[in-house]
Amino acid sequence: MIIGKPFLTAEQIHEKVIELADRISRDYAGKEILAVGILKGSFMFFADLVRSLKIPVVIDFIVASSYLKTTSTGEVKIHYEIKEDIAGKHVLLIDDIIDTGISLNYIRERLLLKEPESLKICILLDKKERRSVDVPIDYKGFEIPNQFVVGYGLDYDNKYRNLPYIAIFKKER
Ligand code: 5GP
Ligand code: MG
Ligand code: MG
Repeated sequence: MIIGKPFLTAEQIHEKVIELADRISRDYAGKEILAVGILKGSFMFFADLVRSLKIPVVIDFIVASSYLKTTSTGEVKIHYEIKEDIAGKHVLLIDDIIDTGISLNYIRERLLLKEPESLKICILLDKKERRSVDVPIDYKGFEIPNQFVVGYGLDYDNKYRNLPYIAIFKKER
């Protein structure tokens, strides 16, 4: 397998994270948010984003999967569910990437049933072309073409998540 040179460098990602954190801090000024990371993919983005927020933050996670290697199975599995009571809270869902939208839509609808005061979504990457379910995205880092990317939390077969940058992944032919 081949990992191309950085598609988004650590520096580009860092700048975007700061920009998103500033917007979020302004929008929620005077409020506390419950930041919910969708693992495993969002772990790096989540950690960088929350440490740049200037508002009170409570943290929780959901562990979900829908992907096998490089294709979505279209079926979302929840392996770990939020432990915080979200009723009346300002929930900010944080994920690495939105592709078909199936996973985020499923998670969003589940959380809405628990009646949070508000629910917004923040994602680093958007593969717009591939969308099959419409999900409202409130904060978005980068729009990217329809190519499989790894690094900065994103995996291929659970590998490459530790890369500090994002690269396009190509299978050997
Ligand atoms: P969706 O349900 O929107 O199709 O898929 C969302 C999930 O699929 C993401 O949270 C991510 O885990 C995985 N995914 C989608 N596109 C990519 C990609 O280009 N690279 C990697 N590593 N994972 C992806
Ligand atoms: Mg994910
Ligand atoms: Mg994955």
